[in-house]
Amino acid sequence: MPLYRDEAVVLRVHKLGEADRIVTLLTRRHGRVRAVGKGVRRTSSRFGARLEPGSHIDVQLYSRLPEGQAAPGGRRGLDVVQQTESLGAFGASTASDYARWTALSAICETAERLTEEGEPVLRLYLLVVGALRALAAREHHSSLVLDAFLIRAMSTSGWEPALAECAKCGEPGPHAAFNVAAGGAVCESCRPPGSARPLPATIALMAALLGGDWVTADASGDAERREASGLIAAHLQWHLERGLRSLPFVDRARA
Ligand SMILES: [Zn+2]
Repeated sequence: MPLYRDEAVVLRVHKLGEADRIVTLLTRRHGRVRAVGKGVRRTSSRFGARLEPGSHIDVQLYSRLPEGQAAPGGRRGLDVVQQTESLGAFGASTASDYARWTALSAICETAERLTEEGEPVLRLYLLVVGALRALAAREHHSSLVLDAFLIRAMSTSGWEPALAECAKCGEPGPHAAFNVAAGGAVCESCRPPGSARPLPATIALMAALLGGDWVTADASGDAERREASGLIAAHLQWHLERGLRSLPFVDRARA
């Protein structure tokens, strides 16, 4: 720094004044970074189209902070985008397909909420790039790509749901009950009141998504896909609300 280069995924974009944009990037080596793209909304801009949500880019940034110096309050402030090269226009190639576009948006939003500014998270970065690439390539159903991303992202954050053993006592499964607050599948003696009783195929699908077993995941039926989506979303929401309670942006949490 102050000039540095990195690979990044554009997570979020918003307008700044007449022609500029503020972009939230998840970079490979510098974690989450907020930066200004100057003039990107002018039609003549050289890199405007590359600063869209879901774009995978090689980017050169200018930081006002000298190397190693933390900003007051731990926030880095805004860097400035100097130059970009496209590595994959995943946003542009999914924008015409509503289901894929909403999956891409959910992946970007979750990645932002699971990261802190300036803290590198290589495993999560690679998961984001892999998920966006799979959406753009139409390799699997978009809801499966999203759920695989979410359950694996939770695993990198230390919130992997128990699927084989009981989340409380470790008793080997499979177990019929699932409880988000308890941490996943639970045995009959540990099962808290009000636990869900998902289809056995639902737990198998969640294990396949976590382990990257796409043969099993692609062969799954609608009922277990719906149920797995609900359990994964509930598990993520539960942990996000508790994990981020002390952070200022927690009020953006969806109900
Ligand atoms: Zn148990």
